[in-house]
Amino acid sequence: MKITNVNIYHENHVFQPGCIEIQGEKISAVHFSDTNTLNEEIIDGQGCYAIPGLVDIHFHGCMGADLCDAKPDSLPIMAEYEASQGVTTICPATMTMSEAELHKIMQNIGSYQPTSHKAAHLAGINMEGPFISKKNKGAQKESNVIPCSVSLFRQLNREAGGKIKLVDIAPEEPGAMEFIEAVKDEVIVSLAHTVAGYDIAMEAFQRGANHVTHLYNAMNPFHHRRPGVQGAAFDSGAFVELICDGVHIHPAMVRAMFQLYGTDHICLISDSMRAAGLEDGDYTLGGQAVKVEGPRATLADGTIAGSVTNLMKCLKNVVQNMHIPLEQAVESATETPAKSIGIFQHCGSISVGKTADIVLLDKELNVQKIILAGKTIL
Ligand SMILES: [Zn+2]
Repeated sequence: MKITNVNIYHENHVFQPGCIEIQGEKISAVHFSDTNTLNEEIIDGQGCYAIPGLVDIHFHGCMGADLCDAKPDSLPIMAEYEASQGVTTICPATMTMSEAELHKIMQNIGSYQPTSHKAAHLAGINMEGPFISKKNKGAQKESNVIPCSVSLFRQLNREAGGKIKLVDIAPEEPGAMEFIEAVKDEVIVSLAHTVAGYDIAMEAFQRGANHVTHLYNAMNPFHHRRPGVQGAAFDSGAFVELICDGVHIHPAMVRAMFQLYGTDHICLISDSMRAAGLEDGDYTLGGQAVKVEGPRATLADGTIAGSVTNLMKCLKNVVQNMHIPLEQAVESATETPAKSIGIFQHCGSISVGKTADIVLLDKELNVQKIILAGKTIL
């Protein structure tokens, strides 16, 4: 297969016209001038951008399915929907569930075998809780919050077939620092749902954490005398997740954060719950009732409970409504999240030898074509 006449997102983060050749599941060549010698399927990308398939490292569900349902069809539904939107690699997240429920969820993940060629690649999962702070629980269920446990984490990861890529913890809780040191070589530790100040967050990063779960949400604000997790993440060079649905963070703050942290540290995430892709109405998240009206998903007390978007919509939103240049937004929705969980050798850029996951967008950033592992799925 070959995609010609297309504006390719280059490894150097600029768009350049050229063509992309695909053999089997892999990208076999990228030319920045068109050559027409091969006799094969040709996709004319005239007027389109070719970008790498997006990588969402934090979302809970979509199309009525949720990773925490622990049903055999939860992951297939989520993986197919995400791929159909151009999100070709996923690392969905669990919620703060009871220990008994977490065992079931992890066993379900451990037994997942992709069967459809239309399913996004499962890079792993993101374990959001239960090792968080009750004081900043957000939409997580308080009664399920427990202190960090290395043995429980390892047991759950075994049950999940070693698929836990990220574990999200509150570093100020008892045993959290020891937990970070114990597991830092097995999993990426992310600071989340926390009341930690700057010093505690710095210590957590020094001990081996290097990621922040949905920056700004479920943590203390960025204050000029109390810079908190945000200041510590900047000083230590950690990766930070930003929910860019337009509900969780003000656009001015998103613009400021792109300047402050840079595209090489910002991972755009959707944090979507099961209503993504569906109508307004009553749903659940992490065992709690959620009402969805327009772009907002909330608990009965008004707490924001995830989003109802997907990462492709977030990408469009940051460019068209928040005025982040497309080149920067693409890097933060592909390369940076891929690097943050250690999978950049397989995906996250249009490079020879990588899996051929490519999305063609028109000038208005509408998805025109999706190629997943070398096969056209849209
Ligand atoms: Zn989440």
